[in-house]
This record gives sequence, C-alpha cells and structure tokens, in this order.
Amino acid sequence: MKYVSTRGQAPARSFSDILLAGLAEDGGLFMPEAWPQFTADEWRSMRGLPYAALAARVMAPFMAGSINPATLLHLCEEAYANFDHSAIVPLLQIEDGLFVQELFHGPTLAFKDMAMQLLGRLFDHVLTERNERVTIVGATSGDTGSAAIEAFKGRERLSVVILHPEGRTSDVQRRQMTTVLDANITNLAVQGTFDDCQDLVKAMFADTAFREDMRLSAVNSINWARIAAQIPYYVYAALSLGAPDREVSFAVPTGNFGNILAAWAARKMGLPVRHLCVGSNRNDILTRFLNANDMTAHTVVPSLSPSMDIQVSSNFERLLFEFLGRDAKACAALMTGFRQTGKMDVPDTVWASIHGLFSGLALDDEATTSEIREVHQKSQYLADPHTVIGIAAGRKFRHPGVPMVAMATAHPAKFPDAIRAATGIFPALPPSLADLFDREERFRVVPNVIEAVEDAVRSGVLANNH
Ligand SMILES: *Cc1c(COP(=O)(O)O)cnc(C)c1O
Repeated sequence: MKYVSTRGQAPARSFSDILLAGLAEDGGLFMPEAWPQFTADEWRSMRGLPYAALAARVMAPFMAGSINPATLLHLCEEAYANFDHSAIVPLLQIEDGLFVQELFHGPTLAFKDMAMQLLGRLFDHVLTERNERVTIVGATSGDTGSAAIEAFKGRERLSVVILHPEGRTSDVQRRQMTTVLDANITNLAVQGTFDDCQDLVKAMFADTAFREDMRLSAVNSINWARIAAQIPYYVYAALSLGAPDREVSFAVPTGNFGNILAAWAARKMGLPVRHLCVGSNRNDILTRFLNANDMTAHTVVPSLSPSMDIQVSSNFERLLFEFLGRDAKACAALMTGFRQTGKMDVPDTVWASIHGLFSGLALDDEATTSEIREVHQKSQYLADPHTVIGIAAGRKFRHPGVPMVAMATAHPAKFPDAIRAATGIFPALPPSLADLFDREERFRVVPNVIEAVEDAVRSGVLANNH
C-alpha cells in the first residue's frame, strides 16, 4: 500500500515511511492510495474473533509491503494485552436501540490508548529494522501526552519529550504523565498556555538544524497510523450488531475529527454504516459546518470536555479531499484559503454530499451537565463530559431500526468534578491507577522561551542515550 498527500505535491510513500514522517512535506495529510475492501463473506468471517486478531485483519491491507501480517498480529496482541476489560472495547446497551462502546479500558483511561498502544510498538519495530533512533516531541492539554508517554515508555530507540502548560492540566492528567519515571521520558511544564506549548513544538520543527540533530518525530492525530488503528473497533461494534447483514450508525464526541474519520473509513471499506453523528461542545465549528456550511474558526473557549476544545479539526482535510473526488489541487486551495481568512468556502454540492452522511450537535457546559445527570438517572450509566455529548448526538439523529452506537472516549474518573456536580457521585479511579496520587512526580519547569525548551529537550535526550 502506498500513501499520497491531500495536497498532491509529495511523492507516494510506504506505510513505514508515513508512520515516521507524520505530516507530508507539502503540508498535506497522507491518505491510502486506494481503499481496501472486504466482501460480506469476509466481514462475516471476522465475527467472534478476539479483538487483537480482528484488528490485525482489518489493518493488514494498510500496512501491506511494510509490516507482515504475522508481525502485525503479534504487535496487536501485545498492544491490547494490558487493557483492563477482556472484551477490550465492550459494547453496552443503555436504551432501546442506543448502545455505548467503551474505548477507555487502556492504561490512561481515554480512547487515545487504542491507537497509541499500537503506535509505540510499530515505531519500535520499524526503527529496529532501520537501525534508527527518533525523538518524539509533542504538546498536550491532557489525553494525548499521557497516552504517548504510556505507549513509548522504556522503548530503546525513542526519546519522548512532552510539553504541558504548567498548572493548566487536571491533576489526574498531569500525574498520568509526570509519574512515569523511565529514562526515555521527559516532561516539561511550560510557563504558558497550551497554545504556547504548541507554538514551541512548531518552532522546534521549524529549526532545521535542531530537528535533524534530534531526529524529531511526532505522533499527533494527523498520523495516518492512528486513524488506521481506530477503524477496528467500529468493525467490532458493527459485526456485534449484525453487520454486514444489518446497518449501524455511530455517534462520536469530536475534536480533531480523527476518531469519526475512522468510522467513515470503515464505511469506505464496505462496512454498512448508515449515518455518522458528530458531537461538539461550545467549540462547535464542525457542527456549524454540518448544519449550515459555515466553517469559520472562532477563538477556543475552555469547556468541561477539554479534549474537544479545538478551533480547527485537522483531520477534516482528509474527508474534504475525498469528497472533492481526490482533487488535491482544489483541496490545497481550500486549506490555504482557510488558513488565510479563517473561513472555508466549501462548494455547496460538496457540502450537501457530506451533509447527507454526517450530522452535528453541540452542547454547552450547562447542557452537558444536565445530560450527564439525565443519562445516569435513566440508564444508571455514568458518562464523562465527552462521552455524554456523543450520546446526546446519537439520540438526536438515530433512525428507527438502525442501532446507534455512541463512542465512550474517556473514563468518568478522569473528570470527577464534572461527574460529581451532575450526579453527586465521585467516580473512583480503577485499581491500576488507585495509587496515582501517592506516586513520585518528575518534571522540569521551563520558561516559554524556545532556546530554553530546546536546551531541555537536548539534555533529556542526552540523559537517555547515555
Ligand atoms: C481526543 C479525544 C476526543 C476527540 O477525538 P478526535 O479524534 O480528536 O476527534 C474526544 N474525547 C476524548 C476523551 C479524547 O481524549
């Protein structure tokens, strides 16, 4: 399988290449050259497979020529071995025709583990094969940083440096990062905001000498391997509910559009997916687009669901590329215009075809809190502030006779204050993290100054390599 850029100005590359590269050199995102297809009989033959085996079957075509199927199966078995539920992605019914699929049974209690646990092992495998080392740098406001640290800790060929805004992540989220003491992990608490952290990461990548010296790499949500690793759980849910002989719809609390894009990819591969529902918080650019073709970037406002506090959904570019008939030139023009004006002019015919498949619902914090309370009262289900927005979107847009599956993206114990405010219940951390607040923390406070941050990265990497 080869990969092409959504902006059309980069050569086609292999899976291993795009795994390490992340972003294409023309600024675009990588897409598979063609969509793998499974026939109805092939889908049926996957029913009842253990999750790791199902995941390997679904992902194998994306990695053909780079990772052989037996290796992929082995990596998947390892990736999902330390989840705390035997089904890995359990499916629960909470109302007539409305289901929840829990994606938070990995080590950091959020759905990012589904992809990141496999990514850590894929990086290790490819770097060993090539006898190379890399330094992964990233900025986080919470879930991505901890998922990356858990997935990459102790891996020989990698150093990981994660920047978080000092004092601006939740205590649970910070401690999930700073209590990992492996030599290859460096946590930097930046005296600034999350945006400052992101700007510092961009500045490091833009510093060519530094980038090459440190062999910088990234695992942010535009890495195609993360999308690929999110497709199998949609397949698992659909097969459990009768696919390929019955349709199913999905509702997904959405930020960068990576999770729901994987549901759409499953549909492209032949899974009978009827409808896709986007859930947003007050940062509702996607919902405004889906309802009224209004893709205008506003400033980000903090919400109860911080992992969806976005101004722009980076993976939307992939969907746009497809709905433009893979016209990379048109895609590049729309993206450049968007960057310049903060508004994207999607042609009405293109918008209409997206609108036929996707719907959006936005809830503000007040509505989120009352929805948490209501879901708990009606179904005895404790949903975190992200998950509950997906549930609300799924309830609003379901069709009679078509099961609707809402994706549960975080464990309620990650957001205990919001849950307590809504229900009076203080959700406990699961046993694996019960002693989180007793563990030793290690992080370095750095000023919001590029030179200081580069020095800290360099010394973290040196300490690991000696
Ligand atoms: C990252 C995240 C999301 C948003 O997922 P995208 O792929 O960025 O759309 C939703 N909920 C939680 C808990 C997350 O960590």
